[in-house]
Amino acid sequence: MIRHLYVHIPFCHRICPYCSFYKHEPGSTDTAAFLRALTAELEADRSGERAIETVYFGGGTPTLISAAHLERWLPEFVRVAGIGRGVEWTVEVNPRTITERKAAVLREAGVTRVSLGVQSWDPGVLATLGRDHSPEEAEEAWRVLRGAGFEAVNVDLMFSVPGQTIESWRETLDRTLESGPDHVSAYNLTYEEDTAFFERFQRGEYGRDEVVDEAYFREVMERTAAAGMVHYEISNYARPGYESRHNQGYWAGADYLGIGPGAVSTVARRRWKNLENTVLYMERALAGMTVLQPATVEELDESAWGCERIALELRTARGVESRYLPEWARAEETTAGGLTREEGERLVLTERGKYVADSVAAHLWA
Ligand code: SF4
Repeated sequence: MIRHLYVHIPFCHRICPYCSFYKHEPGSTDTAAFLRALTAELEADRSGERAIETVYFGGGTPTLISAAHLERWLPEFVRVAGIGRGVEWTVEVNPRTITERKAAVLREAGVTRVSLGVQSWDPGVLATLGRDHSPEEAEEAWRVLRGAGFEAVNVDLMFSVPGQTIESWRETLDRTLESGPDHVSAYNLTYEEDTAFFERFQRGEYGRDEVVDEAYFREVMERTAAAGMVHYEISNYARPGYESRHNQGYWAGADYLGIGPGAVSTVARRRWKNLENTVLYMERALAGMTVLQPATVEELDESAWGCERIALELRTARGVESRYLPEWARAEETTAGGLTREEGERLVLTERGKYVADSVAAHLWA
């Protein structure tokens, strides 16, 4: 049963140099036709029965779509997706593209949760990241979202950015937590292939330092804990009861459907990715094609599935079932105390293991 739905809106005003998602400037794309294509894809989908419990609009920049377009299209989307009461519906918000009217339209349509891409309150760090917003615009966006009455607001932050200092990071955390978010996602910057940052990393202009990463990570763990938040996944912190149900679904291996160009779906251990080509995507979806000629299809066998469970679930506070790791005692040793077994047969990261989660998972695959 498919309970989780992801919708990919690939448009961005400006391309951030670290970002590897499928996105592009809207150019001459017919927005109304693009939105119709999304609903057409969903209507034509036959990959499995659906009883949608969570929806996530990501991108790209979903809030680049105008309030007028959203107002016309969202009721149709709600009908086709079968969104009813109790559904957790998240929309990623870029600080520069949210207005009071747009926030009201989203709220009216049934959006319950918004995720504001602040990244940093330091203008220097924002400039390095190539973000198109200023701290003042993020503050204004925060005011608009809180005023619109969403049930939950998440703030996205990033650390270990070139040129960032630990003082700047502390200030960003303090300012974020003082504003009282329900949820914070704090990501360690990674250098993804096919990005401008990756090229600079390869040229040696940018580097990674695990000691520095750890110091940044410690700051966010300590400050969010002091603010009463639960650290429920390596990069995610929530006020009790405000954990993201959508992401928890992914981590737990639940089926999910992704619509839109470049969106990934996984249903009954079959994973596919839509074409990363908005023009072709629209042509095919609007022609009512039930199969959008996915760019890639992968059948996840038992071993691939087990590896993924370890990689994703070990990063969560619940940990992973020990049956995925029959040799867990040896693993405890090879990860140098990064892992332990709790009652109930689940393996969880120790305090030490949280700092080195990726390398713990890599050891387990070895
Ligand atoms: S980080 Fe967000 S805003 Fe920047 S290019 Fe990527 S999707 Fe667009």
